[in-house]
Amino acid sequence: MEFLCSEEDIVNWLASKLEEYAVYIPSEYGFERASSSDELKLNFPLPAISIKSLFFPHSDVLMRFRGKEIVEALPDEEKKIVLTKACDANSLKVLDAVFLSEPVDPYYERRRKNTVIVTVECEQMCYGGFCKDIGIEPEGDVVIRRRGKSYCVEVRNSELLPEFEKFEACDEGAEETAKGTKENLLNIEWLEDAFESEVWDEVSRFCISCGVCTYLCPTCHCFDITDSGRVRIRTWDSCQFPYFTMHTSGYNPRPEKKHRLRNRIYHKFSYFPQRYGIVACVGCGRCVRMCPSRIDIRELVLRRD
Ligand code: SF4
Ligand code: SF4
Repeated sequence: MEFLCSEEDIVNWLASKLEEYAVYIPSEYGFERASSSDELKLNFPLPAISIKSLFFPHSDVLMRFRGKEIVEALPDEEKKIVLTKACDANSLKVLDAVFLSEPVDPYYERRRKNTVIVTVECEQMCYGGFCKDIGIEPEGDVVIRRRGKSYCVEVRNSELLPEFEKFEACDEGAEETAKGTKENLLNIEWLEDAFESEVWDEVSRFCISCGVCTYLCPTCHCFDITDSGRVRIRTWDSCQFPYFTMHTSGYNPRPEKKHRLRNRIYHKFSYFPQRYGIVACVGCGRCVRMCPSRIDIRELVLRRD
C-alpha cells in the first residue's frame, strides 16, 4: 500500500517512534542515533561507513575471560528504525544471506532482528554510484519516493500499515514514474573465461592494498578474531591485504595484488551469486569514490556502449 505524505508527516511518524525505538539516521561519516525529532529529515547523505556497521561493527567483543570463566558478550536486542538509501538497504540481503544462514551468527542476528528499515529512494545516482545501472530497487519495510513536494510512502511491513491508513492513497501514476526504468548495464559474463586474463595485472597495477574498498563496502563481510587481554574481539578484515590468505606453512595462494583484486571481483559477481543467487555488489560507489588509486570497479562490471 502506498500513501501520500508530506515530509512533516513522515518526520512526525518517525518522531513518534523515538521512545520505543533507537532511530538511526545517516550523517556524512556513518549512522548516528537521533536523540530528538530535530535531527530527523529525509534529505541525508550516503555515509562513508555503511549500514553494515550497525549489525556487524568494525570491532566487536565476542566474549570476555574471567579467570577460568568464559562469558559470551551477546549484544542487546535493540529495537531500531534505520533510515537509509536503496544501496545500503539492499546490502542487507547479502549480509543476511551470510550471517543468518546456518550456522546463524548470534551477534548479527541479535542486532538485525527487531529492525525496521526505512528506505528513501535517491532521485539520481551519486558520483561513482551505479545502483540503477545494475537494477537495484529499494528494499525495506517502508520505501519513500519523492513525488513533487510530497512523498509516496510504500508500507511493505503489514504491522505498520495502520499507522499510515489516515493518509490518502498514492495513485498508480506515482509508482510508475518513481520506479527504475533504466536498462541493466551489468556485464559480468566475460568473467567466465577471464580468470587468467591479463586484465587483472593491468587493473591492479596501482593498488596499494589499503583495504579501503572492502572496509567501506556494505556487502564485504570478512573478519578476523583475536584475543586481546581478557576479551576476544572480531574485527573487519580485508581480502586485499597481502597476508589475508597466508597459510601457517608460509604458502600464500594469493601472493600478488592481481590475485587479490581478481578474487574481490569474482567473489562479488561469480562465487556469491552461485552460492546465494544474488550479486554481492549494490552499486553504492564507495569503492569508486574512496580508492586512493582511483581503481574503478565500473570499468570491470558495467557495459560501456
Ligand atoms: S581501495 Fe583501491 S588501492 Fe585500496 S585496496 Fe582497494 S583497490 Fe587497492
Ligand atoms: S563493490 Fe563497491 S560499489 Fe559495490 S557495493 Fe561494494 S563498495 Fe559499493
